[in-house]
Amino acid sequence: MTYSVILFYKYVTIDAPELLMERERAVCEVLGLTGRVIIATEGINATLEGTTEAIAKYKAHLKKDSRFKKVDIKETEGKGDLFPRLSIKVRSEIVTSHLPASINPRVDTGVHLAPSELKKWFEAGEDFEIIDMRNDYEYAVGHFKNARPSGMSDFKDLPKVAERYSDIKDKKVITVCTGGVRCEKASAYLKSQGFTNVYQLEGGIHRYMEKYPAQEFLGTLYTFDGRVTMDLGAHNHEVIGVCVHCGEKTERFADCALKSCGNHFIACTACRDESDQVYCQDHVAAFVS
Ligand SMILES: [Zn+2]
Ligand SMILES: [Zn+2]
Repeated sequence: MTYSVILFYKYVTIDAPELLMERERAVCEVLGLTGRVIIATEGINATLEGTTEAIAKYKAHLKKDSRFKKVDIKETEGKGDLFPRLSIKVRSEIVTSHLPASINPRVDTGVHLAPSELKKWFEAGEDFEIIDMRNDYEYAVGHFKNARPSGMSDFKDLPKVAERYSDIKDKKVITVCTGGVRCEKASAYLKSQGFTNVYQLEGGIHRYMEKYPAQEFLGTLYTFDGRVTMDLGAHNHEVIGVCVHCGEKTERFADCALKSCGNHFIACTACRDESDQVYCQDHVAAFVS
């Protein structure tokens, strides 16, 4: 049995999100899919796993809907257990930003730049800046060379990113994220804050790595599923993740052993106890002598 994982999003007006939720839930249940789907009046954002055959049927189902006919579906190999369950929800946004409704990718957003075009920028030595719109723990394990980290641990901190990089408002700026969905609002927001020349990487880091493995993107790609990271063909990539405690190179992630903490960080095996637990930097001194 082979399994597949798909990732897709679409900013498109959904008039009756609850109805779409019910329909998608029924289809996913029949096909035995697991994963997460967020539906809002502004669109859909989904990651699903199932048998390769079931995923093929789901894709055919999705594309029959005129709203999703042209949706870009990224597909990778699954394991069959990457998500604990199926979760399909209606929310006010498909990626929570708490930005005003005027930041609307259906109306205005950064120019979509194909991976092949970004590759040309790199090769031609173009003068441009990359802002990585993912959280810092995602950046820590893999990022484009010379990319600026967002400084975020939550996408709701987007206004701070615009303030932090106000010195490059008039430069050519490209935003990047995993599959592209976060960049739709992030690049729209930068434009609203006076950034004059804003692009976003089409298909995200996912598509770039597929096309150009182990080239300008260093390290590995963080995923929000049981894989934690995926290298998309760059099996011999250089490890750039660093254990927060000892500095050893590793791609292993941990959640702070203090359950109420919530910090998610990189920690090597040697810095964990016999049950694989480890405290974050904020709490290690208090609990380990
Ligand atoms: Zn360590
Ligand atoms: Zn902690």
